[in-house]
Amino acid sequence: MATIDTDVLIIGTGPAGSATAALLSTYGIDNVAVNRYRWLANTPRAHITNQRCLEVLRDLGREVEDEAYLHGTHQDLMGENVFCESLAGEEIGRMQSWGKHPLSRAEHLLASPCHMIDLPQTLLEPILFGTACRRGTQARLSTEYLAHEQDADGVTTTCRDRLTGETLTIRSRFLVGADGGNSLVARDAGLPFAGRMGVGGSMNIHFRADLSRYVAHRPSVLYWIMQPGADVGGIGMGLVRMVRPWYEWLIVWGYDINEPAPEVDAAFATEVARQLVGDPALEIELLSANTWTVNNQYAENMQAGRVFIMGDAAHRHPPSNGLGSNTSIQDAYNLAWKLAMVAKGQAGPALLDSYSAERVPIARQIVTRANQSIAEFGPIFAALGMTGGTDHARIRASMDARCDATPAGAAQRAALREAIAFKRYEFDAHGVEMNQRYRSGAVVSDDQPEPAFERDAELHYQATTWPGARLPHAWVFDGATGAEVSTLDLCGKGRFTLFTGIGGAAWATAARTVGAELGLDLAVHVIGPRRAHVDHRGDWARASEIEDDGCIVVRPDQHVAWRAQHLASDPAHALRRVLRKILAR
Ligand SMILES: Cc1cc2nc3c(=O)[nH]c(=O)nc-3n(C[C@H](O)[C@H](O)[C@H](O)COP(=O)(O)OP(=O)(O)OC[C@H]3O[C@@H](n4cnc5c(N)ncnc54)[C@H](O)[C@@H]3O)c2cc1C
Repeated sequence: MATIDTDVLIIGTGPAGSATAALLSTYGIDNVAVNRYRWLANTPRAHITNQRCLEVLRDLGREVEDEAYLHGTHQDLMGENVFCESLAGEEIGRMQSWGKHPLSRAEHLLASPCHMIDLPQTLLEPILFGTACRRGTQARLSTEYLAHEQDADGVTTTCRDRLTGETLTIRSRFLVGADGGNSLVARDAGLPFAGRMGVGGSMNIHFRADLSRYVAHRPSVLYWIMQPGADVGGIGMGLVRMVRPWYEWLIVWGYDINEPAPEVDAAFATEVARQLVGDPALEIELLSANTWTVNNQYAENMQAGRVFIMGDAAHRHPPSNGLGSNTSIQDAYNLAWKLAMVAKGQAGPALLDSYSAERVPIARQIVTRANQSIAEFGPIFAALGMTGGTDHARIRASMDARCDATPAGAAQRAALREAIAFKRYEFDAHGVEMNQRYRSGAVVSDDQPEPAFERDAELHYQATTWPGARLPHAWVFDGATGAEVSTLDLCGKGRFTLFTGIGGAAWATAARTVGAELGLDLAVHVIGPRRAHVDHRGDWARASEIEDDGCIVVRPDQHVAWRAQHLASDPAHALRRVLRKILAR
């Protein structure tokens, strides 16, 4: 029986596990990642890749972010979200989504140095996994997690090498269960869950066919097919999703969860594709087909001692809003620096308690939002008269009635317009993606109240440096070269960062003293004229919400740890207090 020793063992190399491995290796922490299969994702499940997720990739390195842009479909081709009877048939309506609407695009541009892309999971995982392995992760594929036991000093995990059948034991200081929606790690750790699994049934049909003639003039990721008979369980209607424009596709089609999952063979898949595309002669090259369930469940605690769960292991929900992989990667970003600092002895183990405190509310929020988004198709069905039965002739008549020159027809048209526009809570919910604010022992209050959201918090991102929020992005300028640099580029990279203005030079001196005392690599940026970074446009001064002599301390995951409006009487004392508290020292 082989025994392997490592600091962190990661079960799973999906978006959550691969991101954790890449981050830990970047931070210099020894880690092993196992996956029971011989390779990474073989179907393009996740695809909508939001700005916050790209910021994590950017923090891993510009080459990692660039690789994502290289393989991803550009935001400009993502956003004409179409509702139609079939791709060849009548269009019922559409809405601009994923930052395509000019007003939404402006908000995206202001919020982040990164832009959204459509990056299928089959292409995202190799980027993260490759980064991890190149930087030091020991990866073992075809290796299946069986069980774990923890004691005061570490975790002993038993795995099976699926090539030889041999059992291997891996001893680690920490165990991360990134093993997906049926997580055995979560089960074995006895973590509590709220909600239900299997609330709907869906199938994926992944195929190649050139559909350019139906879609290139209205470029989108998602084409929703609403026709009599389409509303069968699952996500509620037929979906034709672009995987690669415009020759590779994924159909998502519901089945009744109370019946056995259907066998999806080539004939069945072709029939569904022909029906949704609206071309009875369509030939497809079937790449894969599988069924999956719609879930509504999240972990109420994501930590049991030295064992952590993340990604779908902790939050299980439908693909609506495209939150799964994005949130999984942000779980990793939250946990990795904490594990690294505890492993290096820079923080006490109590820092790790903040992971669950910060991420469980996010898990609850996204599971609720994703399931609510399914329910919010209801008004579209209602406006079209597609509810309440399977009488196709009646549904047809009701759909046709929206074209009538009658008051009832006008009311139906208005209801449909409103119902489609309301779907921005699924397809353009910038706030859901970007407004995550943490409350835990790893954030120190500055005694200011949390700023209330001035607009709908699900739709609009609101920048703030209130402790716990993500540091606002503002472009500043490199004093030597004049190049634009995001404030987010100045922090992250596994270390704490202090921002101040010229009047706060004493904070900078104090940060160097306290950083040395605590053995921390603490980056310092004094932003102002004739300094390394200059705020020519004043955007940072406006976003920072502090005075010129104040300071903002930012955690390695780019969330604000603490801030001070003005210079403290003893800045070193103030910083020492804050950092000791956050680092549980
Ligand atoms: C149709 C569809 C569309 C989606 N669209 C989006 C989207 O647009 N945007 C988005 O963000 N998300 C989307 N998602 C969700 C996304 O796919 C998941 O949220 C994401 O894959 C979760 O990542 P993960 O790493 O937590 O888990 P997974 O990707 O499930 O990875 C789990 C890993 O654990 C391994 N594993 C499991 N059990 C064991 C074991 N016993 N031993 C060893 N290894 C094990 C697996 O092999 C795998 O490597 C979509 C999902 C579906 C089904």
